[in-house]
Amino acid sequence: MSADKKIVIATHNMDKQKEMIFLLANMDIEVLTMENFPHIGDIEETGTNLHENSLIKAREVYKITGLPSLADDTGLEVDALNGDPGVYSARYSGENATYQENVNKLLTELKDVPTQLRTARFRTVVTFVHLGVELYEEGVVEGVIASDVKGIKGFGYDPIFKPLDQKLTFAEMSKDKKSLISHRAKALEKMVQQLNKYFKKGGSIE
Ligand code: IMP
Repeated sequence: MSADKKIVIATHNMDKQKEMIFLLANMDIEVLTMENFPHIGDIEETGTNLHENSLIKAREVYKITGLPSLADDTGLEVDALNGDPGVYSARYSGENATYQENVNKLLTELKDVPTQLRTARFRTVVTFVHLGVELYEEGVVEGVIASDVKGIKGFGYDPIFKPLDQKLTFAEMSKDKKSLISHRAKALEKMVQQLNKYFKKGGSIE
């Protein structure tokens, strides 16, 4: 690996960070995280959609570090709730809500909704910012919201999200399996292609 290629993952969410590191593992690049920059506090997500929030986070981390920065913003869109919680997925049951509180609220909201109407999707927007360059990619996985929690792997809404044509929830799948089919994997797979081209052209010489 050449030592001059770096990218900073702009998230304080350790679960997302782990998945992103895993998904970037094949890139010839040094991956830094918020642990390398402990002075960077929480970045307020003031946007009204995933693109805006993803851009806010990547721009802020780039502004502070001066290094190529990559952010992810993700939402769970439930059709029976007109797309909620969507961009507010992290705060669905209130500021600083736990994963479990959010999952419980969603299950309660959907308690009278039959299986065929429990369709939903995870959507991830990843944004890369460096110098004057801003790159975006999006990944979506369709599925249904289970009637109860199943599985202990993954994080967030994984125990109640069953991707289309799968028997298991994300929380019942291995990390490798989720990383083959997830929203985040799809977004990052496309982003990695863009980044490989970008870095090949020497865009990242720090
Ligand atoms: P944000 O992208 O930081 O705004 O987080 C959105 C919220 O969606 C997180 O707090 C999690 O609850 C949830 N979330 C994000 N990615 C995933 C995932 O891959 N599986 C399950 N839940 C997720």
